[in-house]
This record gives sequence, structure tokens and C-alpha cells, in this order.
Amino acid sequence: MSRRQISHQLPPIPFALNMRRKLRLPILPYEYKCQCNKMFDIYGDHPFNCPNKNHKGRPHNMITNKFSQALAPLLTTANIISPTTTLDKEIQIHLHLPADPTARPFDVSYKPNCDCHPSNVFSMIGYNITITNATPPPPSNQVLPSSIDCITNYTANADISLQDHERNKLNRPNNRRTTPPISGDEVIGNLLHNQMILTPVAIDAHGRLGPLVRQNLYGTPPPDIPPRKQFKPNRPNAKAMYDHATNLPAPIGIFIEADQRWKQLQADQPQHSTASNILWTQPLRSNTFYIYNPTTRNRYRPRL
Ligand SMILES: [Zn+2]
Repeated sequence: MSRRQISHQLPPIPFALNMRRKLRLPILPYEYKCQCNKMFDIYGDHPFNCPNKNHKGRPHNMITNKFSQALAPLLTTANIISPTTTLDKEIQIHLHLPADPTARPFDVSYKPNCDCHPSNVFSMIGYNITITNATPPPPSNQVLPSSIDCITNYTANADISLQDHERNKLNRPNNRRTTPPISGDEVIGNLLHNQMILTPVAIDAHGRLGPLVRQNLYGTPPPDIPPRKQFKPNRPNAKAMYDHATNLPAPIGIFIEADQRWKQLQADQPQHSTASNILWTQPLRSNTFYIYNPTTRNRYRPRL
């Protein structure tokens, strides 16, 4: 999506906060005691590791809302859903799975309904968003051979942590509060039986996305799972779901597909304002909207 549109840009305060987090600059003038009795550090790592889960609740809901808003036009442009299709959020979804009728494994989901896209064999494709813990920075006295190695090591470690959280979502815990306990793997098995895909969306404390959703959005192949972290034999459905979510006909590289189709639409109809061009709509002055045509580089005011 174009960042020319103001709603696609980060507001100044969250932008400054993110930059300070990324550069390991203090975001607080001093430490203070958290509700959990541990210290809330000046770099802002503590809320990602705090046993008080309330810290992540609001960010989780905000990410879910924004992810859903961004996904709808993307899926429409990629021709995976029709323009009138709406995405469902957790609160609206009642799957009534036999293993656990109360289970709501998706934060955001949609039904692929365009006949020309191979993913329409699925009855539902859902995402479950999880914010991971902050990984501690390397010790200041650690000598790294070069900055390239440093980046490679750091991102590899970040990906392993993100993969752990993705797998935790597929290795759904058993619900022992019921008699008999509900098997988490049976719930995943119900999803597979109903032709549903679950893609965990792991996001780390610096905004890095997990390998599964990176493949889903950008087509980047996920790194191999280390042998010691493979799915256990008593989790056959978790392994099957991982395979379904990472292979065709599941959507892979939605951004690439959307980009190719958008370019094709521009080539076919260069003088017309397509639905995709609306993405370029931008407010130049308050309450005044113009549509920007990237082909002619003209702006014009739509008649509303
Ligand atoms: Zn705390």
C-alpha cells in the first residue's frame, strides 16, 4: 500500500518510539517497578516479557484490526476474494468444531471465493496473531567479526524465536479444564477436516514477522525447522497443518500476486480509474481528497 496516503503512515509518536526501540535508545528516563514487582526497563523490553499478560492485550487487538484492514484490499487486488467480501474477526467467528465447540482459533479469517484462484478449495483461511517475547541484546563485550555476520546472527536468532511461537500456535495446548480434557491436536484436526488453514502470525518486539506469514505475504520460503524442534509424533495434525499452510494451493506471496495483477490492470486499462487506484487516494488538504493516477501523474478531484 502506498505510504502517500496519510492513514498508511505511522503517526509521529509511535514512529519515534519504534526508532528508539530499534536503535536501543532509552524510551523512559528511569526504571520503575511494574505490577509484577519486576523492573520496567528504560529500553521498553519488559512489557514483552512480563508475566502480566495485560501488556500485550491492547497491542494484539490493534495489530489484529490493522492487519484485517490492510488484508482486505490486498486480497481483493490479488483476486483471492471478491471486492464485496468482508474479513471476519475472532468475535464474529463461531466454528462449532466437534472437538471443542467453543474454540476460536482465528483472530482474522476469510473465505477465498474467486473461482480463478487455486486457494478457493479452502472453506476458510485464518490467522492467529501472537506477540513474542523480547530477545535480550548480545552482551556489550561480545566481539563480532563483521556487521554482516552480526545482522545474520541476530536475524537467525530472531527467526528461531518466531518459529517457536508459530509452532506453539499449531501445537495447540490441551484444555484440561474440561472432563475429559480436549485435545488441542484434535481441534487442529477438525480444521483440516473442514478444509481450513491456520497461519500463525508471530511478531517480535521489533516488529519482525515470523517465517510463516512472511511466506504467506511475500513468498519468502521459510527456513528449515531444526531437527530438535520438529513436530512431535503425538502432534500429527500440527505437522499436517504446517505442511498445508506452507504449500500450494494455500496462498503464497499475496503481495507478489497483487502487484502483478495491479500492473496487469494498469496495462489493460491505463486511462481508467480502477478499484486499485483508489489506494492512491490521498488527502492534500484537510477534507479535500484527490485521486492520483500513477500512469498520467495527474491528480483530480472525484465528484462525490
Ligand atoms: Zn511486569
